[in-house]
Amino acid sequence: MTLDEKVRLLSGDGMFILAADERLGLEAIVLSDGPTGVRGEIVVGGRQACLLPNASSIAQSWNREVLEEVGGILAEEALLQRIHVVLGPTINLHRSPLGGRLFEAFSEDPLLTGHLASAYIRGLQRHGVGASVKHFLANESETERTTVDSVIDEATLREVYLAPFEIAVQDAQPWTLMAAYNRVNGVPSTEQQELLADILKDEWGYDGVVMSDWYATSRTAESVTAGLDLVMPGPSTPWADSLVTEVRGGNVPESVVDDHVVRILRLGDRVGALGEQRSWPAHLPSPDAPERREQLRRIAASGMVILKNNDHILPLSSDAAETLFVTGRHAHDTVAQGGGSAQVRPPHVVSIEAGLRTMFGSQRVTVLDGVETRATLPAIDGRLISDPVTGAQGMRIRVFDDAGAVLHDRVVDVAEVEDNKTGWLEHAAAIELSARLNVPSGDYQIGVRGPGVWEVHAPGHREEFEIPFHPGPGGGFFRPRSHSSAIRLETGSIVTATVQRAGMARILGLVLSDAARPAAQAIAAAAAGAQRADVAIVVVGLTPDEETEGQDKRTLALPGHQDALVTAVAAAAHRTIVVVNAATPVLMPWINDVDAVLVAGLPGQEAGDAVAAAISGLVPPEGRLVTTYPAANGQGPAWSTTPQHGRLEYREGAFVGYRGWLRTEDEPAFWFGAGLGYTEWAYGSIEVSSAGPAGVQEVSVSVTNVGEHVGRETVQVYLEPASAELPTRLIGWSSVELVPGESASVSVECDVRFQRRWQPSHQAWTPLVDGRLIVARGLGDVRASLPIGPAAAGGSLNMSRTSVTAEV
Ligand code: BGC
Repeated sequence: MTLDEKVRLLSGDGMFILAADERLGLEAIVLSDGPTGVRGEIVVGGRQACLLPNASSIAQSWNREVLEEVGGILAEEALLQRIHVVLGPTINLHRSPLGGRLFEAFSEDPLLTGHLASAYIRGLQRHGVGASVKHFLANESETERTTVDSVIDEATLREVYLAPFEIAVQDAQPWTLMAAYNRVNGVPSTEQQELLADILKDEWGYDGVVMSDWYATSRTAESVTAGLDLVMPGPSTPWADSLVTEVRGGNVPESVVDDHVVRILRLGDRVGALGEQRSWPAHLPSPDAPERREQLRRIAASGMVILKNNDHILPLSSDAAETLFVTGRHAHDTVAQGGGSAQVRPPHVVSIEAGLRTMFGSQRVTVLDGVETRATLPAIDGRLISDPVTGAQGMRIRVFDDAGAVLHDRVVDVAEVEDNKTGWLEHAAAIELSARLNVPSGDYQIGVRGPGVWEVHAPGHREEFEIPFHPGPGGGFFRPRSHSSAIRLETGSIVTATVQRAGMARILGLVLSDAARPAAQAIAAAAAGAQRADVAIVVVGLTPDEETEGQDKRTLALPGHQDALVTAVAAAAHRTIVVVNAATPVLMPWINDVDAVLVAGLPGQEAGDAVAAAISGLVPPEGRLVTTYPAANGQGPAWSTTPQHGRLEYREGAFVGYRGWLRTEDEPAFWFGAGLGYTEWAYGSIEVSSAGPAGVQEVSVSVTNVGEHVGRETVQVYLEPASAELPTRLIGWSSVELVPGESASVSVECDVRFQRRWQPSHQAWTPLVDGRLIVARGLGDVRASLPIGPAAAGGSLNMSRTSVTAEV
C-alpha cells in the first residue's frame, strides 16, 4: 500500500463510516451509536430501533446473563441495519451524582462496571458486531467536557478508573475503544502515550482499534504516535490533512502508521468487512415484534429497585378491586431515554399511564396530570401530525434558496429534521416546517426546537424569536433548546415554522405540549383525587434537561414542584406509592410520608408495561442500586463537577461512591447495593472456600427465602482492607432465584484484581490479604463480617475452608 492509501484508512469517511479499499477487499465499516439502542447513521428521523432501558437500569439487575442478552439484542439490531460496530458500552464511573451522562454508564463501582461490561461485549461480539468501550479515560462529568483536565493520582487511576477497562480488555476483548474528549493529568486523551501505548496496548496486550471521540483529535504527530489508531469523524481530519507530510518529514515513523493500518484491517476481518463478504441474517425480530417487546419489558422490570415497601403494599394484585389514582406528569409524558448521542427513535413508548391501565383495567385507574417538569419540550410524536397538503403522517419541509425559490419540498414521518449542512439542505437559506395537529381541541404550548431565527404561525398566532446555540464546540447539537407559547388550538390546526440559515449543524423540530397550569392548582386537584382512591401512585422523575450528554446537573432535587405534589398526595391518600422515572439519584424529602418507592429508571420503549409488571409482581423488580443515593445536595465524596481553571481534581482518590460514604459521618438515603425485592432472605453459614496468595477466590454463602414470594437474591462480598488508607470495595457477587422456604448455597467468585494495591514507587501491584470480608445485601444491610488474612488464619495465607456462621 502507498502511504496515501494507508493514511486514508485512518480517518472516518463520514460521520459514522470508515473508508473502504477495494484493492484490499475492505468494505466500508459502518458504526452506530449505542449504548442502549442502535440508532444507525442518521441522527434524527432515521430508522426505528429498539430502545432498551438505560445502562444504569440494566446494570441494576446485577445480572451478567441480562447484560449478555442486552448485547445480543443490540447485535441483532445492528445486523438488521448492516452495522459493524456499536459505540458502547460506556464504562466511565458514577463519580459525582451531578454527572449529566451517568444514565449512559453502569455504576459507581469499577468491579460491577467491568464485569457487566464484559458480559455486554461478549453478547454483542458473539454475533460478529464489534463493541467500543468508551470513554478512555476519566470522563465522569460533562462540564467543559472537551477541554477539562481530570487530575487523578496514579494509584487511583489504576485501582479505580482504569480498572473497568482492564477487566473488559482482559475478559472480553472489545474490538474497539474510544479515546475521550478530556485531558488526564494535563494530556489530551487522544495523545496519551502512557495510557494508550504503554498501559492499554503494551501492558494489557490490546490488539483492537483505538478511535477518537467525535472531533476530539486536534494535533497530528502527538496523537498518531501516542497510540490513537483512527480519527473520527471524517473525511476531513487533522490526520487526513497532514499525516502524510508528517511521515515524509520524518516526524512520524511509517511503522507507526503501519501498526494502525493493521489494527483497522484486523477490525475489518473481525466484523466480516475484509475479504469474503459476511452474510447478514434476513430474519430478525423488528423493534416492535412481540418477542422483542416481551424481552424488553422483562429486562426493564427486573432491574427496577424497590427502596421502600411498608406493610408489603407492593405488589398490587392485578385482580383486586382497589381503586388506583395515578398522578404526575411522567405518568403520561414518561421519559424513556436520556438526551445526547445515545438517543434512538423507538417504534413507540408505552407511557406509565397506559401500562397501568392495561394491567389493572381502566375502570380501576383514574389519571390526573401533575405539575410541569420539562424546561425543553421534545419534538411532537410523529403520529400526532400530518402533512397539510396530502394528509400523510408527518410534517412537510420546504427548503428555500436566497432568492426565495423552493429548492426542495418533501414530507418526513417525524416532527424533526437534521440540518447537517450537507445533501439536500446544503444550500438552504430558509427551512419551513409545517404540520396539521391531530390533537383534541384545547390549550397547548406550541412552538419549535433548535437554534436559529424563527417565525412561527398558527391560527390566531404569529411570533418571531431567536433560539441560541449552546456555547462550546458543536453548539449542543444533540440537545436543542425549545421555545413555545400557550395558545388555544382546534383539532386539525396547522402550524408553520420557518427558520433562517445558521452556521452549525443543528436539529430542528416542532414541539407541542399541554398548556402549563399553575402548580398550586395541579397539586390541589391531585390531592383531592388521591383522597378518593384506595391507593395513590405518584410518578415523578427527571427529564433530558437533567439527564443528558453535554451538561451536568446542579441539584439532585426533582425539577418543578414535584416534591410538593408527592407531599400533598401522601398527606391526602390512604396509601402512596412513588414511582421514580429517573436513572440517577434524586432527593426524596417525602420519603417518610410515603408507603413505597419503586425506582423505574429510564425504562425504554416498553416503559409503562414494565412499570405495571413490576408493580403487580408479574415480573419481580429485583434490582439493586448501582450508585449510592445522597440524602441531601452536597453530600458524598465527590460533588462539584465544575473545573477550577480547567482542572477537575478527583480529590477523593480511590474513595469514590460508597467507598467514600463509608468513611463520612453522613448517612446516605440509600446505599449502593440496596434493593428490597418482594421477598425476604435469611443468611446462614459463610465459608471462604478458596483463598491463595493473591487473595480470596471464592466465598460460599447459604441463603434461605423466608418471605412469601419467589425472589432472586444478590449476595455481595466486599473486602475491607486492614489499612484505613484503603477503601472497602466490592470483590464479587452472585445471585440465586429461590421459591419461598427454599435454601441454597451461593458461590461468589471474588476477583483478585480488586484485592491488590498499586504501588507507584515500585510501579507494581501488591496483594491485599489482610482485613475483613463483608457479606451484604447492600451496604445498608450487612449480614456478616469475618476476618481474613494472616491474623485470622494463624499466620497462614492459605485459608481454604475457613468457615463461620453469620450472626443474622
Ligand atoms: C459522544 C460519543 C459518541 C459520539 C458519536 C460524542 O459526542 O461523546 O459517546 O459515540 O459523539 O455520536
